[in-house]
Amino acid sequence: MIDNACEWGASTLLIFSENVGALVYYTHIFPLVISLFLGFQVLINNPKGRSNRVLFLLTFVFSIWVYFDLILWASPTPESVMFFWSAIVPIEMFMYLLAAYLVYLFAHEQVDAPTWKKFAFSVFLLPIFLFAHTSLNVIGLSPDCDTGAFEGILIQYMYAAEIVIIGFIAYYLLKGIRRIKDTANRKRHIYISTATLVFLCFFTAGNLTLSFDLGPFYEQYKLFGMPIFATIVSYSIIKLATFRVKALLTGVLISALWILIFSMLLFSDIAYARPVILITVIAFGIIGAQLSRSMRKETQQREQIEKLATNLEKANARLKALDHQKSEFVSIASHQLRSPLTAIRGYASLLLEGSFGQIPQKAMEPLGRIDESSKLMALAIEDYLNVSRIESGNMKYNLADFNLVKEVEHVTDDLRSDAMKKGLVLYFKKSLHHQGVIHADIGKTIQIIHNLINNSVKYTQTGTITVLVRDDMRKKKIFVDIIDTGIGMSEETLNAIFHKFERARNANSVNATGTGLGLYVAAKMAEAMGGGITAHSDGDGKGSRFTLEMPLAM
Ligand code: ADP
Repeated sequence: MIDNACEWGASTLLIFSENVGALVYYTHIFPLVISLFLGFQVLINNPKGRSNRVLFLLTFVFSIWVYFDLILWASPTPESVMFFWSAIVPIEMFMYLLAAYLVYLFAHEQVDAPTWKKFAFSVFLLPIFLFAHTSLNVIGLSPDCDTGAFEGILIQYMYAAEIVIIGFIAYYLLKGIRRIKDTANRKRHIYISTATLVFLCFFTAGNLTLSFDLGPFYEQYKLFGMPIFATIVSYSIIKLATFRVKALLTGVLISALWILIFSMLLFSDIAYARPVILITVIAFGIIGAQLSRSMRKETQQREQIEKLATNLEKANARLKALDHQKSEFVSIASHQLRSPLTAIRGYASLLLEGSFGQIPQKAMEPLGRIDESSKLMALAIEDYLNVSRIESGNMKYNLADFNLVKEVEHVTDDLRSDAMKKGLVLYFKKSLHHQGVIHADIGKTIQIIHNLINNSVKYTQTGTITVLVRDDMRKKKIFVDIIDTGIGMSEETLNAIFHKFERARNANSVNATGTGLGLYVAAKMAEAMGGGITAHSDGDGKGSRFTLEMPLAM
């Protein structure tokens, strides 16, 4: 072990000292800033993404490595050189692990690796973490103060491990290309994995130049894998919104350009810097062209969207006006139909009652039909009027407290004879912890219940209809279930029935006179009174259950 201090003076901020040439600063600080910028941009834009976090960690660990390496260049004391030399080894290994993890995530479309795989990798790399601070790692410093060290067996092991990891990454790259079906995902994977591969190949190649004693000069360029990595990653972000980052990485580009220009000041001999400048210029040529193209595209898209938005606004306003006119038309038409219809109904029933003398038996049947049809027509007109009232916001609700249970029982009793005519049994049941008082419009609530039970009678050919009133004190709600053994509803019907004019395909075969408005009106009225209606069925032919729920007045 050689422990004489080197000739140069102490370093400032650990990294500035006379020993370090401009090229070293350039090859270190430039990739360091680029990698940190990239990492932060990707993390800030989507902090929850697993691959975003891994990329951030990778760039961060890389930055620490670079910073430590600069310290090695600048530090004149053997103790600190030895310390940072030992520390940098596990850091480097960790960086390779993260890079492999990143590629794994892209190769498997962001599905995390199973724990056993993570474990297997860690065991393989354990010696490096365990023996980092022993002489197995760094045996001693080289006597000429060039920051070089005599590498222990552990470092050789690490180089071998690096090559194995690079092999794994190449394998995952190919595996991903074969297995990913989604084209965009496959492209993302190719970009990120190739970038990572380039990054690590530069790094390991630089390491090997040390092992083959090519001098410290070439080793500097191993860090240039990072700007290339950053360029490919940025390109893939701009083109494919990789890492779910949509923002343009203008920040990275501008700061990198700034560093490049600034660093020119550090070079006394421009020829010396030529390869460095060449790499940087190529990188920015590609990314700059891509940036301006995507910016142009974005501006065009924005203009298009703005135009579309204005058109949409106009169309919307026009649709609203049309809808309003339509509601008004329905309302006027219905009102005008109502008065002649009242006359028809009135006279038909007077005729049937014999108020105009004895009607011949032959005329009784057609007269009965006139009476029946005019009733149905009146109901349909009432539905239309209700729809136009709801849509124009003119539906009035007279809210008051009343006992829902009693009203439901009355409606059930009223409809029992209709059910019996069809051979159906209509039950009324209750299971209550509360009297069942609600605060709502009594007329409209009766209308809703009537509608639901009436539907069950209409759409059930044999069996039973059960009306069950129950409450839930915890939720402070009361429920009215209407359960039938009727034609039931398919999933598709269930999704549609609360919309206007929607009727199931099988509805007509059972009942031809419906308008498809009853449930729409009932649901809207229930909602307006703080409640709601839900429907359930196991499928066509399997019966239905409709539930009205209302808040209890307590
Ligand atoms: P209408 O009964 O006038 O057609 P509704 O709005 O009351 O209109 O009902 C809409 C549709 O919902 C009905 O056409 C029918 O397809 C379905 N439906 C309603 N109640 C039931 C029920 N109890 N059983 C099966 N289907 C029903």
